[in-house]
Amino acid sequence: MRITELTIEARRSKGAARPIRDALQSLPGSGSVHVTARSEDGVEGHGSSGFGRIAGAPDALAAVVEHELKPLVVGSDLTMIRATHERMLRETEYHGSGGLTTFGIAAVDTALWDCYGRTMDVPCWHLWGGVRSDAPAYAMVGWLNYDDREVQEICAKAVSQGFRAVKVKVGYATLAEDIHRIEAVRSAVGSDTTIMVDANQSLSTAEALVRGRAFEDMGLFWWEEPIPADDIDGYAELADALDIPVATGENLYSRHDFARFLRRGAVDIIQPDLRRAGGPTMLLQIGLMADCFRIPYASHGGGPVQLNVMACLGNAIYLETGLIPDGSPMRIEDGKVSVPDGPGFSWG
Ligand SMILES: [Mg+2]
Repeated sequence: MRITELTIEARRSKGAARPIRDALQSLPGSGSVHVTARSEDGVEGHGSSGFGRIAGAPDALAAVVEHELKPLVVGSDLTMIRATHERMLRETEYHGSGGLTTFGIAAVDTALWDCYGRTMDVPCWHLWGGVRSDAPAYAMVGWLNYDDREVQEICAKAVSQGFRAVKVKVGYATLAEDIHRIEAVRSAVGSDTTIMVDANQSLSTAEALVRGRAFEDMGLFWWEEPIPADDIDGYAELADALDIPVATGENLYSRHDFARFLRRGAVDIIQPDLRRAGGPTMLLQIGLMADCFRIPYASHGGGPVQLNVMACLGNAIYLETGLIPDGSPMRIEDGKVSVPDGPGFSWG
């Protein structure tokens, strides 16, 4: 069964008037690229990659998909998606299959699996072999641009929606400010709610060690991206010295980056991103590899693709998402969301 058509659409966005912010970046949002794969049977599958920033990124990525990836995909066999994925990696290696190209490979890979699932009329996790039909979820709602009152309100709202865990951005100039923020959130969500913290690569290893010990004493669940994402030596030092689990992975590209961190014992919880990992093919491979190291998987970013992958991972512990908007097909009950049961990556 062949892919006969790949269409690419860049969607631009002006960006939010009040961008969300973490310790590293201000994120106004700036559009996305949508890919539709069509098979000879006329079945369509959809994939996309979005951006938190960089206004020109959708146009640049659309050109990469159009000129570099599309020629590799049109005419390919829909039952050989993993072979198509390997070909995309190999053929883009010269100018760098990491970076923006990986965002494109992820969107194409998502569209191909979605097309295959819809062709077989089953969810993708049925194709891969499931181990669970629901997954714990946490709300990433504690952005740095909120004042204390705002962060308390949004965290309390997450709990009222059914979340049992919330994540809060830290990485202020001082540990005292981080502690103030966490205590503000704790007073709003109560002692039964799990809290994770994320410094978005902003600290030195020495400072991350000091703050990590303080967060251990506060009973926090994980310490995310305290130092630059590529500092494998620093992560190995932190993972060895701290009892609080050190989480990272949203800024790692490809299975090989994860293999290095896992072999080195430099991470306690992996957090692959759909776009930077290179699509569901790679998320699944990375998650299964981590399971062999007895390392838990927590998604970076949410949505139906991550949920389909997590349905196949015995080591999946958390889906990341924001507040659940009105009208969303996602339902949360007792801190867990159901895995979509529609064909491909649809909610059904
Ligand atoms: Mg993060």
